[in-house]
Amino acid sequence: MSTFLWYGLLLFLGVIKLSAAGFCEKDNKETFSYHGSENGVMQWPRLFPACNGIMQSPIDIPTNKVKLDRYLKKLSFFYYDIPIKRGDVVNNGRTVTITPRDNVRRGITVQGKDYNLQNLHFHWGSEKYPGGEHTLNGRPFEMEAHFVHRSSDNKTAVVGLLVQVAKRENREFKPIVEVLSDVLYKDESTSLESSLKLNQLIPKIPASYYTYTGSLTVPMCTEGVVWFVLTNKQTIGWKQLNSFLKVYSVRKEDRSSECLLAPNNRIPQNLNGRIIYASP
Ligand SMILES: [Zn+2]
Repeated sequence: MSTFLWYGLLLFLGVIKLSAAGFCEKDNKETFSYHGSENGVMQWPRLFPACNGIMQSPIDIPTNKVKLDRYLKKLSFFYYDIPIKRGDVVNNGRTVTITPRDNVRRGITVQGKDYNLQNLHFHWGSEKYPGGEHTLNGRPFEMEAHFVHRSSDNKTAVVGLLVQVAKRENREFKPIVEVLSDVLYKDESTSLESSLKLNQLIPKIPASYYTYTGSLTVPMCTEGVVWFVLTNKQTIGWKQLNSFLKVYSVRKEDRSSECLLAPNNRIPQNLNGRIIYASP
């Protein structure tokens, strides 16, 4: 077979594979999406130059190659012990975000600088391949929670919490899971019905972590983000995880099986020589 024909065949098979994956046409109307054929995760580097950067997130963390820094302080969280009684829960078509609305300034302090909590949101994989974003020694976790913080001089620090699926329900996720059915479709929003205890959602405070400099994991893929991936993992019941898997990336009138939000996790990016530090 000539090379030309061979490539033609590969291209043909590729097209079959792409159409079998069932792209959500409506996703293409957005600036970016996870699985639109024109703006999905594979197209991000073309559409958003920063996504081509050399300090992107997430990454795989090879735990035996990280640099243990005995002088790093464990991560402490201020006012995370005050439960969020009022908070907005929104489906923005790419994830579900929770934004506290109780005027409590929660956050983390890193090297004397305060970073205030903006929102928390989640990444989950597909039904077949549930997955968060950061991996440990190549191992994916079923879900990842991101606690996004910003300093007064506009620097971003994200705390990543790896979540494993378990048989037992985790009551710390209940305040979130119980309102997911109200935000099944894009642009739907609701309020928390019961208070969310962030200091319980995070397994151990002060927390040990892996830290490195990376980026936002969605476009614009802005770099200069300080990441803290917590060493201790959390669990979520499989039924609870399933509730996330039912969320759509489109408005109710456009729903179809291709337009489920899942998977909304970017694959690990090249480390490009960056050093990952581990706290004691
Ligand atoms: Zn995120």
